[in-house]
Amino acid sequence: MIDLRSDTVTKPTPGMLAAMATAAVGDEQEREDPTTNELQRRMAKLLGKEAALFLPTATMANQAALRALGRPGCKVVAEERTHVLIYEWGGPAIHSGLVMRGLVAEAGRPTPEQIEELDEFGPGSVVVLENTHRSSGGRVWPLDELGATVAAARERGAAVHLDGARLFNAAVAAGLEPSAWAALADTVTICFSKGLGCPFGAILAGPAETIERAWESKFLFGGALRQSGIASAAMLYALGHNVERLADDHARAKRLAEGIGIDPATVETNFVPIPDEPGLTERLLEHDVGVGGLRPGWLRAVTHLDVGDGEIDQAIERMQAVLSVHA
Ligand SMILES: *Cc1c(COP(=O)(O)O)cnc(C)c1O
Repeated sequence: MIDLRSDTVTKPTPGMLAAMATAAVGDEQEREDPTTNELQRRMAKLLGKEAALFLPTATMANQAALRALGRPGCKVVAEERTHVLIYEWGGPAIHSGLVMRGLVAEAGRPTPEQIEELDEFGPGSVVVLENTHRSSGGRVWPLDELGATVAAARERGAAVHLDGARLFNAAVAAGLEPSAWAALADTVTICFSKGLGCPFGAILAGPAETIERAWESKFLFGGALRQSGIASAAMLYALGHNVERLADDHARAKRLAEGIGIDPATVETNFVPIPDEPGLTERLLEHDVGVGGLRPGWLRAVTHLDVGDGEIDQAIERMQAVLSVHA
């Protein structure tokens, strides 16, 4: 099967496995894992933050951030189809006592006006912004627009967390440093098991004091590992080998869109949004192409490390045979 369901399906490459196999390791709970410590230093610098923390998943990174920034009874506000509201199983309410409030927003981007209009909202509340925004099709949130929404949140006294699970995709697509977006938020999450190709691993970066509180949450959630350097070595390897190549994924996504009659202008990163029809996923599977769900009424084909130009050519051929949208 040509697996375009998600960029999470990538398997570690031989180079990454070799880096993992030869990693220097120690007990992370004692902060003695040299590879994890090195990764944390590198990521704090790269994101322009005082400190960075390794966590097993980006879900845990988001939840640790909310627990560090929020206060029970206050709100977490985000676009209604962000990962933190739809895929983290009520975590903000369960772990942090936060009231979850979703906003309907074009391209996943709540406006300053939407933030200004919120009731009972201020210190102890957290605004979560997602870039790239998954459910709108991996779209990139322009820096100035994101900055305006951050300013509105701060005006109200709220903290700002950036769920940048795919921030490197945004950075490569926009030709900006990830730190440009990270600088605007209090804390930022990066996921390494998407386009960066690691089996697992995430980073939370922010002010040293906030990251210290997140470290406590990591213990609470059972996410403090022992020889975490095995994972951190894969993540360091990904920083060296799998960031710039995200541009290839983006180019392949555009080519796939063109090939199946979808406007390539709707492709900003590695997602191709496809209008859904009853039975379409199953018919594509019969032709050995896997696609995933984007949001109600829409599917997605996602390009990643494990699909090359040849697979894209084949996918175009097979999908043309099935899709009624093709030209
Ligand atoms: C995948 C994803 C996460 C969670 O990542 P895991 O490491 O799988 O927990 C968080 N936010 C966004 C936007 C994501 O796409």
